[in-house]
Amino acid sequence: MTGRVWACLLALSVWAGGGCAPSSAECSGDALVNEETALDALPKAQFDWKALWVWISPSSSREDVQQMASLAAECGFTAIIVNTGHRGEASYKSRYRPMAAGQTVDVLGEAVAAGHSRGLEVYAWISYLAGSGTETFQKEHPDHVQVLLPEEEAKAAAGTRTSPDRADVQGGSWLCPDRGLTEYERGITDEIVRNYALDGIAIDFLGYRNYRACYCAFSTAQRAAFAQAHPELSAEQVLMQFSRQSLVHFSQQVRETVLAAKPTMKVAIHVYPDFDPDPLYGNRLAVDYCGQTIAWFYVPHWPFERILENQKAYMAAQGRHVPWNRHVAFVGCRADDAAKSPERLRREIRLAGACGCRHMMFAFHETLHQDSALAAAVRDELTP
Ligand SMILES: [Zn+2]
Repeated sequence: MTGRVWACLLALSVWAGGGCAPSSAECSGDALVNEETALDALPKAQFDWKALWVWISPSSSREDVQQMASLAAECGFTAIIVNTGHRGEASYKSRYRPMAAGQTVDVLGEAVAAGHSRGLEVYAWISYLAGSGTETFQKEHPDHVQVLLPEEEAKAAAGTRTSPDRADVQGGSWLCPDRGLTEYERGITDEIVRNYALDGIAIDFLGYRNYRACYCAFSTAQRAAFAQAHPELSAEQVLMQFSRQSLVHFSQQVRETVLAAKPTMKVAIHVYPDFDPDPLYGNRLAVDYCGQTIAWFYVPHWPFERILENQKAYMAAQGRHVPWNRHVAFVGCRADDAAKSPERLRREIRLAGACGCRHMMFAFHETLHQDSALAAAVRDELTP
């Protein structure tokens, strides 16, 4: 590993700027971080794949779904990633979980038709460990739930937030990644892939509530066995490598399930929550499109220099472990008090294309629906 990569790793691990010395020969983003340079004097980014994360209410009408797809196409996206479930309910016809109260149309089915009629790829957004029907499964299998250290649970209960970017420890009840893909989640994945003419699925919420490890009885025993098999590793290395291996294995199981049902499918992810022991671990996942955050939602919005450093680190790490795992620059923007200016959003989208990156994803559709100026900014950047 080169000194430069270590510098990037360190920079990312503390989420601070600096670390990776800019190399203008490698990266086109350096001009973009200088706000003195007018954006219109610089070339737009060129993307091959542009995905929009869409959280659409299960009670949406057919017209709502059509409007969503029209907006995505008008703004220049090539793919939509549409939610499939929330709190144990499905937004589609499921064998495993009920449709949401008030739902009258098959929202996922409508989205597939609406997207394809406009030339968009359609991905099903599946939240695995948190949220997507796991509550139903967890009631019957409480031993599959993540367990944290008592002081971590106290932080989760208190909702402390040392960094504005995230809770110190995520709350809620999540399944344990060390268990691998449960039959329940496998079933949900299989039915979605088989029953809808999708182009791919997108993984969300693959990770640990404390951003590093689970301490349930199963994980503790498995980690001890891993330590015994690797006497050369320190306790901290055991914790990191065991957890990382679980996350990678989970992605491989999802991929196998998806491709067994439909071999032409793609697998995407937004790497979330963070994995603090190895912030660049996303390049090991068995995914085609690896969404990694370069510009997050929250205020204070990240300085452009930091966004560029993120992009450089992810691009430098691309292809080191899985040749077909491509970094996809994730840009988040809300329409509420945390909204970015259209000018900032345009610059962030150009940074998503820096260092030769041809893939980006944006969250969420709601932002574009609610704020026409931000929608115009996205359209300006993503269309010729
Ligand atoms: Zn566990």
